[in-house]
Amino acid sequence: YTGKSGTQLLADKVKHITVNDYQSRPVVVQQSASVYDAICTMFLEDVGTLFVVDQQITLVGVLSRKDLLRASLGKQALETIPVSIIMTRMPNITVCKQGDLIIEVANKLIMKQIDGLPIVIEVDYGSGYEVVGRITKTNITALLVDLANDEVI
Ligand code: ADP
Repeated sequence: YTGKSGTQLLADKVKHITVNDYQSRPVVVQQSASVYDAICTMFLEDVGTLFVVDQQITLVGVLSRKDLLRASLGKQALETIPVSIIMTRMPNITVCKQGDLIIEVANKLIMKQIDGLPIVIEVDYGSGYEVVGRITKTNITALLVDLANDEVI
């Protein structure tokens, strides 16, 4: 008998769960896309965060709901504004890798006050990122439910 409390056992369990176990597919738009197109994509794909990529599908930016709302407050036609001028851009993007611990991701979401992170792999010898997934507060809520139902190995 290890003498570990229930809370310690739960903590041990949580500290082994990786991004790999709780992720969603990424939804991306090209940097040349308009704000109008990005709003349509956000509704059609039913996501709260879009990732912006260049023609080589390298990550260049992030678009949140409020980024798009803010752009919509201006007088300019949304079809004429490229997302590249309103997005949060590299290198100011917080990312994670498939093998990272979920608890590290949760910490980043809290510290940066954001809803989600792109899951990336390094390309071009570490000079850029390719987006392979998405992890959000919703995925972490799903983990909480699984833990409560004792459905986590
Ligand atoms: P909202 O703005 O809709 O509340 P967020 O809280 O996720 O959604 O986004 C807040 C701001 O942080 C936005 O300007 C967004 O572009 C930016 N942002 C979102 N995700 C990231 C990220 N992973 N790295 C850096 N900035 C991000």
